[in-house]
Amino acid sequence: MVRLKPKEKKVKPVMVIGGGIAGIQASLDLAEAGVPVILVEKKPSIGGVMAALDKNFPTLDCSICIEAPKMSEVMQNKNITVKTLTEVIGVSGRAGNFKVKVREKARYVTDACTRCDECVKVCPEIRANEFDYGLGFRKAIYTPFQQAEPSPYVIDIDACLNNPPNYMPCNRCLTACLPQAIDFMQEPYREVEIDVSSIILATGFDMLDASILEEYNYGRHPDILTSIEYERMLNSAGPTEGHIVRPSNHDHPEKIAFILCVGSRDQRYAFYCSRVCCMYSIKEAYQTIDHGVKDVTVLYMDIRAYGKGFDEFHARTKKEGVKYIRGRPSEIRVDGDKPVVVY
Ligand SMILES: Cc1cc2nc3c(=O)[nH]c(=O)nc-3n(C[C@H](O)[C@H](O)[C@H](O)COP(=O)(O)OP(=O)(O)OC[C@H]3O[C@@H](n4cnc5c(N)ncnc54)[C@H](O)[C@@H]3O)c2cc1C
Ligand code: SF4
Ligand code: SF4
Repeated sequence: MVRLKPKEKKVKPVMVIGGGIAGIQASLDLAEAGVPVILVEKKPSIGGVMAALDKNFPTLDCSICIEAPKMSEVMQNKNITVKTLTEVIGVSGRAGNFKVKVREKARYVTDACTRCDECVKVCPEIRANEFDYGLGFRKAIYTPFQQAEPSPYVIDIDACLNNPPNYMPCNRCLTACLPQAIDFMQEPYREVEIDVSSIILATGFDMLDASILEEYNYGRHPDILTSIEYERMLNSAGPTEGHIVRPSNHDHPEKIAFILCVGSRDQRYAFYCSRVCCMYSIKEAYQTIDHGVKDVTVLYMDIRAYGKGFDEFHARTKKEGVKYIRGRPSEIRVDGDKPVVVY
């Protein structure tokens, strides 16, 4: 009897949805195991929230310095196909055999882009930069951040003056771009169906809209910030180049209070613990003292420093002079020029 050699089976790819640090690491691990990966990210760059952070607790390592090498590894790995500006619009099939329909938005800038920034200098359209959570600005043609991957710039077509009906096309970027990387002829959308064996959801988390807690007056006084906005302020590549300032007048503040559990462990919004605000507030309070702000207070329900080195980091922060007060503020008053925390 002749035994036939089994045909070498082609491994179907796995789709990873979400290009934050979780999706990046999952893609790298799968690729290393020989599995082809399709990494889908809705934003212009992979990186997720970690790319926006300044330092990481508890070691205070630079966040993007850890993540950027992984981002470029993803881009260079032959087993990984990265699709940015892409969202899943439908899934059918069953485990081992899914058909995923995705919609890809045009970037309008090709791989010929050298990131020279000449287009940005001439673009007249300014918008709030989503990557700075609205604290900074960008142009209609932009790159979300220096280490963005894929590296070509991107055009926000809704903000661009060439967006139809363009009776008077702008084309300033087109003229400024010497490598001719700008291509307004790209189809605005492309729908593709992809066969995959499995799907990993790594879509991360969304920030709570803090303005729904009316008692805290977020959005009604510029000096009341969310933690992620403050994180961008601490970042030397951020909108204030790492300087802690009051957005209302650009003065250096003398007194800063951090309020924990905003919206979480609260029956009105999220009844659960976020598991991160204790630790990132310890980090941000430590950095605030390090920046020379003398009076730093953290108002907390209880400090959940549960990981390796976390409790020691909390103790170190207290030793540096951060005051901890157990209490949940009832209100932030905004009647004067400075917000007043009532607890
Ligand atoms: C202020 C602040 C400070 C922090 N500091 C630290 C710290 O010092 N140390 C630490 O360890 N952790 C810290 N964290 C927590 C850390 O940021 C997160 O745990 C981590 O970034 C989560 O990564 P992720 O990949 O799961 O999610 P994300 O970073 O949220 O990434 C998810 C990605 O999925 C994409 N996505 C979402 N939906 C879709 C969709 N439908 N289709 C395609 N793509 C989609 C998103 O655009 C995003 O890029 C901090 C968090 C905050 C808010
Ligand atoms: S699009 Fe052109 S002008 Fe703009 S950064 Fe890229 S190469 Fe430079
Ligand atoms: S064509 Fe659009 S992206 Fe280019 S410079 Fe004009 S407004 Fe900016």
